[in-house]
Amino acid sequence: MKKIWCKLLILVCCVMGLMTMGTMNSHAASVHHTLNYFHYNTYKDDDGRNWVRIEMGMNKDKLEYEAGQHPDKPHQLLLRLKDTDRGEVKKSIGLDRKIARYMNLKNDRRDLVVAIGVTDSLDEHEYKVYTAEADKKARKPYRLIIEIAEDRGQTNTVTEEELLEGIDGRTVVVDPGHGGTDTGAIGPSYVREKDITLKISLEVARILQANGVNVFMTRTTDVDVYGPEATDTQELQARVNVARRHPEADIFVSIHCNAFTNPSARGTGTYYYGHSSRDSLLAQSIQDEMVAATGLYDRGINSARFYVLRNSWIPATLVETAFISNPYEEKLLDSAEMQHTMALAICRGIRNYFHSMG
Ligand SMILES: [Zn+2]
Repeated sequence: MKKIWCKLLILVCCVMGLMTMGTMNSHAASVHHTLNYFHYNTYKDDDGRNWVRIEMGMNKDKLEYEAGQHPDKPHQLLLRLKDTDRGEVKKSIGLDRKIARYMNLKNDRRDLVVAIGVTDSLDEHEYKVYTAEADKKARKPYRLIIEIAEDRGQTNTVTEEELLEGIDGRTVVVDPGHGGTDTGAIGPSYVREKDITLKISLEVARILQANGVNVFMTRTTDVDVYGPEATDTQELQARVNVARRHPEADIFVSIHCNAFTNPSARGTGTYYYGHSSRDSLLAQSIQDEMVAATGLYDRGINSARFYVLRNSWIPATLVETAFISNPYEEKLLDSAEMQHTMALAICRGIRNYFHSMG
């Protein structure tokens, strides 16, 4: 009896195995297009108008796609690529930030849905979507091409959500943590703190400037502020000095990612030294907006003896945006959309601080 049961069981398993393999195969065969190439650049047309050109290459031609906008989302261009898989292309890609901010790719059943965030609401004649045949000479596969034009006459505009009233004429020093030979903390997937802090800081600067704020940055590229051979103190003092060179500066905001040996440590925290109550007010204003915008765990504000805070002549704060050592938060920090969300939250915190200072 036992033997027969055993054989039956093996037979059932085999049949089920074959069945699942069968469905898997048919699913794999049904995905017709897989992305294998991504590139974007900006160019000027004959009228002197700037465009962003995005190319998404794939393994096969004859792509079916739709492009358009959702009436509720004038700052997004949406595309649906039929029977397409994202392949190795990243889920979230940062773009030039002046015309287009980011591109998110999401599988929706068998289709791929692409959302491109634009800085100005799009009219129909402000974008083009078309396909191009494979170009062997240029080593480019069959591609879907998206071109988006800048808004005429307005070079630095804000979206409705980025509009921050009552802060024009203020002066802010933005300090992207680390840089150059100092990578800062490195996440489990090798995302580097210095890259994330720079991206968020550049976005903070863009939004503030578009709202009429004067911004000075301690660095705008991947460099050491003092120089590669500097001591820690020289490097940090060089950052403080940026504010000292600009006596009109109102506040100093340093942007970092947190890290800890235990990968489950998480959340957002903001630090101040406490020369005056304005330090903690600035920290709290930013902390509140950060937690509201990201939904990350609220570590609150804390006083700390960080060099840049202790030696600042003006109200200063240091934002630990999230834990780069936490795999989940590392992924968030690496996404262009989250970088924008955090940057906007920091700007709103800055606005609230100025408002409460009167
Ligand atoms: Zn740091």
